Amino acid sequence: MTTNVSEKQARQVAEAAREAEWRKPSFGKELFLGRFRLDLIDPWPSAEARPDAEDFLGRLRDYARDEIDGAQIERDARIPDEVFHGLARLGAFGMKIDREYGGLGLSNLHYCKALTLVGSANPSIGALLSAHQSIGVPQPLKIFGTPEQKKKFLPRLAGGEVSAFLLTEPDVGSDPARLGTVAEPVEGGFRLNGVKLWATNGTVATLLVVMARVPGKGITAFVVEGDAEGITVERRNEFLGLRGLENSVTRFHDVFVPSENVIGGLGKGLKIALTTLNTGRLSLPAMCVGAGKWSLNVAREWSADRVQWGRPVGQHEAVAKKLSFIAATTYAMESMLDLCCLIADDDRNDIRIEAALVKLFASEMAWQVADELIQIRGGRGFEKADSLEARGERSAEAEQILRDLRINRIFEGSTEIMHLLIAREAVDAHLSVAGDIIDPDAGLGRKARAGARAGAFYAKWLPTLAVGRGQAPNGYAEFGPLAGHLRYVERAARKQARSTFYAMSRWQGKMERKQGFLGRIVDIGAELFAMSAVCVRARAERDLHPEGLELADAFCRQARLRADALFAALWDNTDDIDVRVAKRAMAGRYAFVEDGIITHPSEHAWVAAWEPGPATVEDVRRRIPPAPEG
Ligand SMILES: Cc1cc2nc3c(=O)[nH]c(=O)nc-3n(C[C@H](O)[C@H](O)[C@H](O)COP(=O)(O)OP(=O)(O)OC[C@H]3O[C@@H](n4cnc5c(N)ncnc54)[C@H](O)[C@@H]3O)c2cc1C
Repeated sequence: MTTNVSEKQARQVAEAAREAEWRKPSFGKELFLGRFRLDLIDPWPSAEARPDAEDFLGRLRDYARDEIDGAQIERDARIPDEVFHGLARLGAFGMKIDREYGGLGLSNLHYCKALTLVGSANPSIGALLSAHQSIGVPQPLKIFGTPEQKKKFLPRLAGGEVSAFLLTEPDVGSDPARLGTVAEPVEGGFRLNGVKLWATNGTVATLLVVMARVPGKGITAFVVEGDAEGITVERRNEFLGLRGLENSVTRFHDVFVPSENVIGGLGKGLKIALTTLNTGRLSLPAMCVGAGKWSLNVAREWSADRVQWGRPVGQHEAVAKKLSFIAATTYAMESMLDLCCLIADDDRNDIRIEAALVKLFASEMAWQVADELIQIRGGRGFEKADSLEARGERSAEAEQILRDLRINRIFEGSTEIMHLLIAREAVDAHLSVAGDIIDPDAGLGRKARAGARAGAFYAKWLPTLAVGRGQAPNGYAEFGPLAGHLRYVERAARKQARSTFYAMSRWQGKMERKQGFLGRIVDIGAELFAMSAVCVRARAERDLHPEGLELADAFCRQARLRADALFAALWDNTDDIDVRVAKRAMAGRYAFVEDGIITHPSEHAWVAAWEPGPATVEDVRRRIPPAPEG
């Protein structure tokens, strides 16, 4: 079954789900407007003292070190039942659930530290816990649930029952407007029919968040019992990485869901998903930070130990540059993540742009970090950990890390979608004053009124982009050796906003199609946010870790080169050519380039069609047995 949706309708659905209001200050939003509001993140926010959380992290560390055999999970492609039980005993399934419902009520900071830790033992466990509570039932209920829903479901989840989030369908990936799962109103509730693809935890979950379309009302979120009649887990999917992931194809056939299981009201499903992701997105960077730390550890020891051409390989400049990149980038990813968590925890700022930036930046950079680690390790980087061990060498699962990290650039908002989502927020100020000028559907009257509004706004705003503290030779002097980098950030923020303004006037309604340009603007913003985070952190920690200043300096120098290249490419690029070439490639014009290889035609379509109805295959659900007593 497919739902036909035009590009315009798809965009309208996404736009309606967007949180349009800004109730609190946002560092990211200001940055994209050319206003470097360092005061919103400096001084480094302090974490709430939570001895219970520190105690939990200690126990989780011991458990992960002594009881989790990451190599075995990789080999068997399965997280053992005992690990589910062990994590439940520690309370790991209730990290984000409030204490009144039996959870640990951890802050974002401690929750992310736990994911970093446990993900370093095996990334599939990080994904299990994160999908369970960052997008699964606990988080949407925390924000939108009724007291009855919380009382009914949260204690079960805190106790170790697993949850999953089911939005994706064969025909619905980045674009939820095509959603085909239907929840038809019936006496006392709804009847659910549809097929959901790639649900992480879907094979083991006993409580699901399901997104379905209620006719006439729109996409709605439901809590559904995993064992409800009519649900079949049709497949457990296998992937490039995250071999331990319990990921399903799940069919719903006439599944009854009571009315009281609607979350947040009819038609509110996508808004709930997006709001949940505002902080939920922090869990993927937490895993990327873990991968960065792990890569640094291996790269550091190996580079000093391995001698070739008369020196440890880390002393050859080509390798040294990679090691420096891994160290500086890991420091930056952690700084951005911690900062996001801290400002989310003290609830002063809106962090939706920063969280999106750290997801985008960390998923891309961690992948590069793992790739460079493999290069530093040479042939051993390509070899499996078990194979290294069997030859009597110290094992390091570098190739696994690379495979496991790859998905972070795709799920919870692919890099391309994150670029658009952040760009949408970045140009929000322009659209709110000038939106009608560039809206092809707006009539002349609306365009004229918008023109007048825009004139007044820009007359005030543009002059503010001409000068700033970044031009003063002693600007940000309190940051000592890092002051020059903050001056750069301040100047670059204004330059980036000027470029956006110029692009808006040049392309007007076509701006939204300029994905190359918008992506670079967002990537510049990510580099500037990363630089700000490392400088503020390094200064705050200068007594504890004076060496952090060196890393912050190295990172900023690397980031400035990347940002300068992005600025240059804003106006000097192959974007138009690429769009032309792609169009011709899709039309088959360059098919001759594919000559000389074997391809395997298939009788299947690229996207499988599905039909509502009962399952025709066996249920492959995995039931985690109750933990043994004692
Ligand atoms: C291991 C794994 C776990 C997952 N877990 C879950 C889960 O728990 N729950 C759930 O609901 N889903 C889950 N997903 C689905 C995941 O969120 C989607 O894969 C993701 O949203 C991308 O959708 P898609 O794969 O259909 O890509 P598509 O939407 O088909 O996109 C294909 C490509 O086009 C790009 N693209 C698409 N639209 C645009 C555009 N407008 N502009 C520019 N580029 C565009 C994309 O970035 C991508 O590169 C999971 C997927 C995997 C592989």
